[in-house]
Amino acid sequence: MLPQDALEAARDELLEYGNTGMSVMEMSHRSKAYEEIISEARELFYEIMNIPRSYKILFLQGGASLQFAMVPMNLLKTGADYVLTGQFSHKAYDEALLFGKSVNIAGSTKAENYTRVPRQDELKLDPKADYLHICHNNTIFGTRYNYVPETAAPVVADMSSCILSEPVDVSRYGLIYAGAQKNIAPAGLTVVIIREDIISPPMSGTPTMLNYTVMDKNDSMYNTPPTYPIYMCMLVLRRLKSLGGLSVMAEINNAKAKVLYDYIDESALFTNPVNKPDRSIMNAVFKTPSEELDALFVKEAEKAGFVNLKGHRSVGGMRASIYNAMPSEGVTALVKFMKRFEVEHR
Ligand SMILES: *Cc1c(COP(=O)(O)O)cnc(C)c1O
Repeated sequence: MLPQDALEAARDELLEYGNTGMSVMEMSHRSKAYEEIISEARELFYEIMNIPRSYKILFLQGGASLQFAMVPMNLLKTGADYVLTGQFSHKAYDEALLFGKSVNIAGSTKAENYTRVPRQDELKLDPKADYLHICHNNTIFGTRYNYVPETAAPVVADMSSCILSEPVDVSRYGLIYAGAQKNIAPAGLTVVIIREDIISPPMSGTPTMLNYTVMDKNDSMYNTPPTYPIYMCMLVLRRLKSLGGLSVMAEINNAKAKVLYDYIDESALFTNPVNKPDRSIMNAVFKTPSEELDALFVKEAEKAGFVNLKGHRSVGGMRASIYNAMPSEGVTALVKFMKRFEVEHR
């Protein structure tokens, strides 16, 4: 979902942005009007996420999935640590393996079907690693880190499904990346927040478009950036700011997640397998005792207007993604529907 007021603002200026005589979609990315849009989006990121000025914000393309490759191409000199906590962290690890360097699995909860994330004392870190890669919020498995791993190397975090959902101490990370389409803007934009001192020449053979140094030197304008998603990002960030920023957003998100988890925990029909302290506040997974009943739930939910509730095929069951723009009323309505389903099918 995107926030209703951001969509309305976009609608109101769809045909003409300000007095420019054209739509944002028609602007040159080098025009003065567009320059102001991308600058405002960048500045709002610094402000809302409280990002130190020693970090650069890059607006790139290719999704989080391209960062799975871009991170090792730029940062992997000798070795890297990867923690496996689900599908996306595994994909990132597989991509790092492509480059013939030493890639260490520093931790994995695969044996427990990723129902939790490893604790700090379980991590087996390579003291010579160039970085440690984690997936902060595991979209498919409904888990998240409730701590930032301690390591000598910079921490690289995939925050695609949790960025802007609560305050984070950016200074604890070397690099944060996120595909925009879950919590920031429509698909097509990838945001990278990188500590300036780790931007270094990439491995030889790295294409120019995948070189952080080039993207940084050109202020994300080496080529045409995804201009409209960056504009939508600006509108979403404006709304977050007027709401009171990330601490207010976190209060709202925690309250939404609590309503859902509290009901699941007291329900005699639905269960959530995740270790409680590791439960995601963005993606809640749940299931009934049978696959048939799960399928019936998804079908009836859809009829009642609740879409996209089917869980990923690797976990089955259901998953409610309650990103920033999902209003509390959406969660309350879902719980009401689940209660009725429970009464009818217990
Ligand atoms: C959705 C998602 C991805 C994939 O993002 P793309 O932008 O489609 O490449 C990667 N990581 C996480 C944590 C995700 O939730």
